[in-house]
Amino acid sequence: MNIVILGAGLMGRLLACQLARAGHTLELFDAGGSEALTSAARAAAAMLAPLAESAITETSVVQMGMYSLPRWPELIAQLDEPVFFQQIGTLVLWHRQDAAEAQRFARQMEATHAALPSLPKAQPLDGAGIAQLEPSLGSRFTQGLFLPGEGQLDNHQLLAAMLHQLQRLNVKLHWDSPRVPADFAPGQPGQPDWVFDCRGVGAQAQWPALRGVRGEIITLLAPEVKLSRPTRLIHPRYPIYIAPKGGDYFVVGATEIESDDLSEMSVRSTLELLSAAYSVDSGFAEARIMDLVTQCRPALPNNLPSIRMLGERVMQINGLYRHGYLIAPAMLDVVMELLQTHTSPLAQTFALAISPAKD
Ligand SMILES: Cc1cc2nc3c(=O)[nH]c(=O)nc-3n(C[C@H](O)[C@H](O)[C@H](O)COP(=O)(O)OP(=O)(O)OC[C@H]3O[C@@H](n4cnc5c(N)ncnc54)[C@H](O)[C@@H]3O)c2cc1C
Repeated sequence: MNIVILGAGLMGRLLACQLARAGHTLELFDAGGSEALTSAARAAAAMLAPLAESAITETSVVQMGMYSLPRWPELIAQLDEPVFFQQIGTLVLWHRQDAAEAQRFARQMEATHAALPSLPKAQPLDGAGIAQLEPSLGSRFTQGLFLPGEGQLDNHQLLAAMLHQLQRLNVKLHWDSPRVPADFAPGQPGQPDWVFDCRGVGAQAQWPALRGVRGEIITLLAPEVKLSRPTRLIHPRYPIYIAPKGGDYFVVGATEIESDDLSEMSVRSTLELLSAAYSVDSGFAEARIMDLVTQCRPALPNNLPSIRMLGERVMQINGLYRHGYLIAPAMLDVVMELLQTHTSPLAQTFALAISPAKD
């Protein structure tokens, strides 16, 4: 088939790779350039944390996340370049003044496990347990939680590897080329057979319920810090995480602000993220600030992902919010089922709504 994809962020690239490998003829349009600087995909920390996220999302997203964890290594293996992927769990820590918030989080983990007993159970840790996992932290914290099986990947490597595969498979790539679904008449002579709309927040004009949720993130170079796994700090305002990215690089994120403002990072957010990182590991004192990034997560009113049909041959995939990397493989497999059979048993498993066009 001849297929057009709008948006070359996370969902657009993933879908384009899958369809191009299956032998379809593809054109991919993006409003920005090949480095994906205009996408949430590029800004993200790419944590794959279904348990930690269950504190703030629905069971369906947790289930999609659990389904997706083993799918990522399979998808990465189909690319021509290596992409860093790690699955050695998450460490959750808190300072004494945030103990009440930590209790709420632990209760939430128990509720998640009661609802989905097949999930790995959060494990309480004392100082010795923390030191065993992360030797540099044991003397600073006396209590924590370990969330087994959670993962993360290097999104910059992933986006670049997908781009190179699309080039190799002769996909027609159109950069700095914003498009809307109405620019195409799929099924008509000389037109594509299908259009997939993966424009994230860029689809707002045609999907008014969409909103952007501002997130800020900092990349640090910190040779003195020896954390090996993603570490979350319970924080009264946002769930803050420190994600090791290899080569002494760490990503500290992310704020969550109800605004679609894409201006530079604020002083307050910078201070809060950096002081949180320093309070976890004083080795961050001499870290170098390599990058400060602001982007918006594409979200729908219920903060859940959605697939919406705009006519018979235009499919919109959006609302991935703060869980894009966590759930993208599940969304991809649902879309492939829909394309092949017009139904998706997987979507039913996840209680994922597939709706006809309406706002
Ligand atoms: C700070 C931050 C941290 C995050 N951390 C995580 C995390 O740790 N784990 C996780 O799972 N998720 C995380 N996310 C969420 C994740 O990045 C998003 O859910 C995901 O990128 C959404 O994918 P998407 O393809 O729908 O949109 P995007 O990745 O935003 O891609 C949309 C693309 O569409 C293009 N576009 C826009 N308008 C047009 C147009 N008119 N025509 C053509 N192209 C257009 C844009 O240029 C962009 O390239 C984070 C997001 C942010 C901002």
